[in-house]
Parts: sequence; structure tokens; C-alpha cells
Amino acid sequence: MHYEAAEGLAKESLRKLQTERLKRTISTCMRSSFYGSRLGALNIRPEDFTSPDDIRKLPFTTKDDLRGNYPYGLLCQPMDQYVRLHASSGTTGTPTAIFYTQNDIDSWAGLVARCMYAVGLRKGDVFQNMSGYGLFTGGLGIHYGAERLGLLTVPAGAGNSKRQVKLLRDFNVSGIHIIPSYALHFANFLKQEGIDPKSLNWRIALIGAEPHTEEIRQRIQDLLGIKAYNSYGLTEMNGPGVAFECEKQAGMHLWEDAYIAEIIDPETGEWVKEGEVGELVMTTLCRDGMPLLRYRTRDLTRFIPGDCACGRTHRRIDRITGRADDMLIIKGCNIYPMQIEQALMSLPEVAQNYLIELFKEGEMDQLRIKVEIKDEYFVEDMRALTALQKKIASRLRDEVLVTPRVELVQHDSIPKSEGKAVRVVDLRDK
Ligand code: AMP
Ligand code: ZN
Repeated sequence: MHYEAAEGLAKESLRKLQTERLKRTISTCMRSSFYGSRLGALNIRPEDFTSPDDIRKLPFTTKDDLRGNYPYGLLCQPMDQYVRLHASSGTTGTPTAIFYTQNDIDSWAGLVARCMYAVGLRKGDVFQNMSGYGLFTGGLGIHYGAERLGLLTVPAGAGNSKRQVKLLRDFNVSGIHIIPSYALHFANFLKQEGIDPKSLNWRIALIGAEPHTEEIRQRIQDLLGIKAYNSYGLTEMNGPGVAFECEKQAGMHLWEDAYIAEIIDPETGEWVKEGEVGELVMTTLCRDGMPLLRYRTRDLTRFIPGDCACGRTHRRIDRITGRADDMLIIKGCNIYPMQIEQALMSLPEVAQNYLIELFKEGEMDQLRIKVEIKDEYFVEDMRALTALQKKIASRLRDEVLVTPRVELVQHDSIPKSEGKAVRVVDLRDK
């Protein structure tokens, strides 16, 4: 049983549909200033694309392209056609923003609804979205999908565990969306409060937005007494709803009528052999407002060979095993070490060296930054030092949206490594 017939399309029909949509997408792209000049210079013509494999004729699009053409350089429609935008974090590093037309929002909601249906949520279910709302797509993206499916949707947002429990109980919630680290934290909270998870009506959790292992999934399932399904997405490809596990929990179906996915060797840019791990590259097929061609996600995964027992024909990707760049994900927020460096270096008190440490406190990932302070500011006045510590923490929070622990250390006290500086130390046990 599928939410939409397209989920079971025969492979050949799916490829035909992809080709048609790819051609249309390329034509649309030509209208943006960025793609207009880039594709024009390469003499790309939609009619030269006769199979999805022809996608290799197109150049890649990178995060830097989005940054370099921020905010409007990739828009393909008149400004009054847009109804929403989502954006990545950051105030010093140039952010990236994705703009959606009403059609884009509608087709995205359809994809998310499809995912939710695939894990067994149905009209009549009550669904609590326990992830943050705002510019982050995990809020409104999941929300609109849940409403589309006809679920009674509780927009709880993240945090405030006490209130979450009250909502879960009062409204007999049967499904939730939560990031894995918060799910573990929430399990601890229930334990501390003496609440038996089995006393709740919930049965399904969608977990995603950050990397996690099969072991973490098992723990979440055991501790909360529910089934947890992996959900993958990224803002550049709308947000959640890109690839999702079905009830078989055997990899995530990537919706191939809405995206063309490729797995490449991040060094050479060539396709890897079927089943091998590489970088996921994605093209939108159903977006009018800001379509992206061959976007380098930097996420590492592989296609799972073979068909899924659920009957859906769309290929599955494995859980994300890492990144081809240095992006960190803490409490669901994407953080580049460079953002931290830029924020630190904008403060006159900070000397040259710093060290980013990732550690675990309970089940939550935390960020600690050791910062070398210039001698003239490294004074004995405790109040001055505490004020400085607070100033640095709040500057960093503005930048990466997570409040780090800040430890002030003396100039030249962080050990230097030979060769490349080690800026990030991961103390979380894997
Ligand atoms: P954002 O655009 O802020 O939603 O972040 C998207 C990024 O979060 C992706 O490129 C991945 O690196 C990460 N991500 C999202 N979902 C998952 C998931 N299910 N497993 C692992 N990483 C994920
Ligand atoms: Zn399946």
C-alpha cells in the first residue's frame, strides 16, 4: 500500500519521467542569472538530454555557488511568485537561502506525506513535531507534510521536555518527529521523572537531521518503546522528505520522481560502482522556484543494491556515514569550524589559537571551545574574565546557534601540532 502510485512506478517509466522532468528543470534553470550564464557558456540545451544518465553533461553546483550568488542569483521566477524561504545558520559566513513557490511547497508537502505514510502513519493519528521551527526546515517541512497526510499536528517545537510529555499525554500522540540526540535525552528525562514510556500512546518516531548509527536507533526504540525510522533531507533539496525508510527499516527510499541522485567519488567527480560509498549528488526535478542541478551534498552514502520487499521501486540509500567536508552537526545545527574561527577572530581579545572539542554530556553532544587570550586581556580580575568568557560564548552562539562552553586559556598554551593545525577534537565515544 502506497500513498501515491508513483512510488511503485516500473523502473523504465520512472527513468522516462526523470528525463522529461530533467529537461523541464534545465529550461527553468536557464531563467536564473547564475545558471543562465553557466549553462549558456557550456552550450547546454535541454533537447540534448535523452536519458537521466545524460545528467553527467551538466556541471556540479556547490554550496559555494549558493553562497556566491546569495540571495537571489538562482531564482527562476518573478519575485512575487515566492511564498517562503528557509536558510542556513550564520551571520559572518555568507548564509545560503532556498526560496519556494507555492507549487514547491505543495510538492514538498506531498513528498513528506508520502514518507509518513510509508512508516505507517495514517489520518486519525496525532503527530507531535518535536524539532525546532523557524528557518530550519525540520519544523515547517515536517509540519506541512503531516497536515497534508491529514494528521492532527502538534507543533511543539524542540526542548522543554516537561511540556512535551504533557502534550504527548493530553492529545494521545501516536507519532513524533525528533532529532536522535534529543530522543536519547528525552528518554533519560522520562526515566528521571519515573514515566513509563509504554504508558504513552506513541508508536512511531521519525528521526533524522543528524548522523546516527543503527545502534542509536535500537537504543531509541528500546528506551522509548516505539519504532524509529530514519529520515534524510537537506535544505537545498527542500528539507526533510528526500529519502526515508519504509516499514522494512532497510535503507531509505530516495524519491526518484522528484530527484535524480548520483553517488560520485568526491575526488574525481565520477560515478562510483553501484553499491559503493561516495558523495551523494542531487538534482531537483519538481522545483520551479529555485531548482538545483547536480548539487554536491557532501554527504557520504551508497545505493543499496536490490529491491525492497515493500514494493516501492525507488532506490534506497544507506544511512549517512560521514561528510566529504568538515561540517559538524551538534544538536541538529550544522556548524563549519571556519564559522567558529571567523567569529573568534572578530574579537580583539582573542589570540591566534583555539581548539574545538566535541564531547558528550549525558546523551547530548556538546561543544567546548578553548580560546587563547592575548596576554593583556589575560588578567587576574575574575569578573573581567567571566565577562569576556560570556562575550565570546554569545558571539559564537549568534554565529552557530548552539551555545558552546568557552574555556579561556593563556596565549600559546594550546599544543601545536606539526603540519596542519588540529582544530577539532572529537571526544564523543563513537
Ligand atoms: P539542514 O539543511 O540544516 O537540514 O542539514 C542537512 C544535513 O543534515 C545533511 O546534509 C546531512 O549532513 C544531515 N542529515 C540530515 N538528515 C540526516 C540523517 N537522517 N542522517 C544523517 N545525517 C543527516
Ligand atoms: Zn521499502
